[in-house]
Amino acid sequence: MRVLILLAFLAVSALAAQKRYDGYKVIQVKPKTLASFNAIAKLYKEQNSIYDFWTEPRSLDEPIDIMVPPAYAKEFERILRNHKMEHRIKIADVQSAIDVSRKDQASPSIAKDPRSRSVSSRYVVNWTQYHDYTTISVFLAQIAQAHPDIVTLKTIGKTHENREMYMVKISNPQTNSNVTKNAILVDGGIHAREWIAPAFNTWLINELVENYADHPQYLDNLDWYILPVMNPDGYVYSFADDRLWRKNRNPVNGPCVGIDLNQGGAAGNGCDETYHGPSAFSEDESANARDAILSIAERTQVYLSYHSYSQVWLTPWGYTVDLPEDYPLLFDLAQNAVNNLTAVYGTQYAVGSTTGLLYVASGGSIDWIKGEAGIPYAYTVELRDTGDFGFLLPADQILPNNLEMWEAIKVIAEYTMEIV
Ligand SMILES: [Zn+2]
Repeated sequence: MRVLILLAFLAVSALAAQKRYDGYKVIQVKPKTLASFNAIAKLYKEQNSIYDFWTEPRSLDEPIDIMVPPAYAKEFERILRNHKMEHRIKIADVQSAIDVSRKDQASPSIAKDPRSRSVSSRYVVNWTQYHDYTTISVFLAQIAQAHPDIVTLKTIGKTHENREMYMVKISNPQTNSNVTKNAILVDGGIHAREWIAPAFNTWLINELVENYADHPQYLDNLDWYILPVMNPDGYVYSFADDRLWRKNRNPVNGPCVGIDLNQGGAAGNGCDETYHGPSAFSEDESANARDAILSIAERTQVYLSYHSYSQVWLTPWGYTVDLPEDYPLLFDLAQNAVNNLTAVYGTQYAVGSTTGLLYVASGGSIDWIKGEAGIPYAYTVELRDTGDFGFLLPADQILPNNLEMWEAIKVIAEYTMEIV
């Protein structure tokens, strides 16, 4: 009994310490004129630390979701009025939405009890709730232990706060050992609050390994490298302290903690949500990822970087409006994958180059992956949804999201097997 009271107390005090978003609204605007688009783009560039852009400015007529703090509500309304901007409130009170979504988080104690197993799986994770970093780490260790023949769990280095970063290699050494297999590299969770990305990556690991018999060709003819959580410190912080945290936890900017680990981020001010750091690969997390990726780049044909949200499938480049020479190949593969995805539940994804679909590049890592690491098919994929819940995607959408994305992965895998 005393333990229960203590646990309840800890749970309440953890909640009390969390950053609150009372009165914050997410407003979706749709600029119809160049002047109104420029007004919003100006806010994005200059007042990124006040207005949190849940989605980035794309182009005329495309919706942009912006979280507005109560203290700036009047100012923001004035801008909307001045430009007669079409808009609607997507989330009327962000704190209420966070409170509602709390049921979607699995209890952290699940990982500490070795007897706890979800109904459908032999592991500590299920995909009916979001899991914290400890639980995900336990899952990775469990699946590697259960399948030592095909799963290798590697540590690629430590984060700023000294957490291990993991890469999972999935490979069937029994088959085709005399040929060098092509490889597919998957990451996600660079931005902490995009919880659906690690929830997909862990599911993908489970699907490839546990359901091997359903699709042996994907492991017999391909190797997989999966970095399920690229920003562990930020992910932990988004569970414990601030549900909407995006960056890592390096306090390099004085009062403004955190660096956006997606190197191409647009902002140069340390307080901005997308601050990209003093130099490329300045951060432990991105330097670890760079070294791990370079070590396997030679035979890796495809790179998928999972983010949320918007339902878009992006190709390079982000730094220029020019398209890569092989853009038609990249586009066709992505479009075929998306067609297969859409066939499941009708979910729509837009396909295009980063600068073609976004006003300001945010898919920074794929430029480096394609341009420097030389991995030809480099994509950034923004998962569900299109803004009804945004980062607070309900956990009952994890499985539908994963099942439809798996259909896209199948297209990618079949194609990658054939690349010579
Ligand atoms: Zn992201």
